[in-house]
Parts: sequence; C-alpha cells; structure tokens
Amino acid sequence: MNSIDKIELLGMNMEELENFAASLGQPRFRGRQLHRWIYVKDTSSFYEMSDIPREIRQQLDERARVSIPRVLKQRVASDGTRKFLMEMYDKKRVETVLIPQSANLSGRYTLCVSSQVGCPLRCAFCATGQGVFQRNLYTHEIVGQLLGSRRELKRRLKNPEEPLITNVVFMGMGEPLLNYNEVIRAIRILNDPRGIQLGQRHITISTCGEAAAIKRLAEENLQVTLAISLHAASDQLRNELVPINKKYPLQTLMAAVKTYTEKTGRRVTFEYILLDGVNISRKDAENLAKLVKPLLANVNLIPYNEVDGLNYRKPQPQDVTAFYNWLNAAGLNVSVREEHGVDIEAACGQLAVKPN
Ligand code: SF4
Repeated sequence: MNSIDKIELLGMNMEELENFAASLGQPRFRGRQLHRWIYVKDTSSFYEMSDIPREIRQQLDERARVSIPRVLKQRVASDGTRKFLMEMYDKKRVETVLIPQSANLSGRYTLCVSSQVGCPLRCAFCATGQGVFQRNLYTHEIVGQLLGSRRELKRRLKNPEEPLITNVVFMGMGEPLLNYNEVIRAIRILNDPRGIQLGQRHITISTCGEAAAIKRLAEENLQVTLAISLHAASDQLRNELVPINKKYPLQTLMAAVKTYTEKTGRRVTFEYILLDGVNISRKDAENLAKLVKPLLANVNLIPYNEVDGLNYRKPQPQDVTAFYNWLNAAGLNVSVREEHGVDIEAACGQLAVKPN
C-alpha cells in the first residue's frame, strides 16, 4: 500500500484509535497503547512500539502511518528561539517557532504553530500574507508541529522526560479561524490529559477578526485564550492594514468579541502592532482606548519587526513608551510584547515560506 493511501493515526483521539484497533480485529487497549506511543513518546515508527507484538506492528505498518512532520531546517536565534521549517506529506512547508520562556534554555517553551500553508487574508504588514495561500493544515499536521518540535528538543536535552512545551499559540502562518474544525480538533487532542496534557488556558488562538467564527468559538465550552489582531482602531486604517475588516468592520468585530467575553467569562487580548508613522499617534491611542475599554480585555503592543520588501518601519522606543503611557493613563490593561527570534525572521509577522 502506498504511504499516502495508508490511514493516518496522528490526529485521531483515544476513542478513534480504539475503534481503529477494533477494525483490525485487535482488542481496544491496543488503541490506548498507540495513543501513548504517539502523543506521549512522539513515536512515528510502529517498529519502536515495543509493547505491541511484532506481527501486529507489521500489520500496522502495512495499513497505517503516523506522519510527524519532518524538520527540514532549523535556525537558532541569539535569544534561544528556534525556527523550524517543517515538511508535510505532500511536500508543503510551514514554519513553527519554539520560544524559551526564560533565559534558562533547558526550561520550558512556548510553541507558535501554523494553521495554514500561506494565508489568504493578506494583511499589509505580514510576510505570510504576501505569499501564496496553498491550503489548510489537517489536525495531524497541527498537532504534528508540537510532536516534531518536541522530538527535536528531546534530542538536545539531558532529561527528556520533563514537560518541555507548556504553551501553544496559534500565531504562526495562517488564520486559525479559517481552518476552524481542524484547529478545534487539534486543541482537543493537545488538551487530552492522557496524551500531550496541555491545559486549555495554556493555548491561545489569535485571529485577525473572523467575527462569525469568534461567535462559534464562544459556544465550544473551551477555556482557551482568544487574541484579536486589531492593529488599527478606525475602519479606514484597518481596511488598509487588515483587509478582512471590509467583511467584518470594527462594530461587527467588537460585537462578536463582546458575545465571546459574556459567554465565556474569559478576558481577551487585543494585539496591536506599532507601525512607525501609521497607527501610533495620540489620536490612534484615544480611538483604541474608546474601542477596547468597554470590554473585558488586555492590550498587547507589538513593536513592528521589519519585513524585506514591505514599507512599514519599526517605531522608535520613545514612541512605544508614549503610546503605552497614553493607553495606561486611559485605564487600559496594557503590556508591550518582548520580541523573540527577530535575528532569524521568527518574530511576529515575519514567517514566510516560498511556495514549492
Ligand atoms: S497577520 Fe495572520 S491573518 Fe494576517 S496575513 Fe499574516 S498570517 Fe494571515
């Protein structure tokens, strides 16, 4: 059987793996064994699954596959951030970024995952949006970014049993809410206490404003964190920077966020990229404060990371401070994001893979 025609086991939950085992005429506990090998041990080869009898491993190998994406290339930034270029079964490639949570590089990491190959939304300042949108990622390719990254990390660490990746943010390539079903399935697998064990509160979905999907997300009964990439507080400027605003203008977006906070009781984060001379005036700060203040929300300011070929510029540090102070004085809960991986183009808005 051709590898493409085999059944993909990565991306199946416990029950689905049990059902798969039963479909092979095996007891259901074989499915639980597979679950552990895949999601706890990051194993993609059936021949390494030592508590499964040899003839069953062979049967599995003939019928199924576990496609943890291959790391084709990795670059390490001066601050310890790692950017992985990962290849999927059809040779499509995405970038995934592993960010140390402290200067102690054997400590814990946050993983920034991609949800699409390229992105159709074409935000004006974003490297991903300038490329060609190719396709959505499947659940197994999203979860596989964590397993592939963890496997790479384990190879480098002395005590690989420690929890390594404790936070996942959907802030890589693509708009996660345009790939809604696969992203939600991936979150449920990441969260399973019998497998990867990532707490829902340690998972962040970042959206550019898919208002209809935000309302849908409010009904999922998930405790994940929602981040809204706002970047402008007037429709005129937001239409230019984040073109999905033409479909869901600010009033519609804010109404969806309000529904979300009321339904979930969860505070949302508004991300605001600071672009020199574009969206950092006092008037911009006032508009932003007016928009966000009525909501249960934080504001996270992100000084822009420059991208080759785009005309946007990084703001001066004193302008960042002034913008922060205006929002703070207006009573907003505001922070400035510490940047990671800028020297390897792994920072926010800098991910891009040439189409193949
Ligand atoms: S900022 Fe996000 S949604 Fe916008 S183009 Fe880039 S990847 Fe797509």
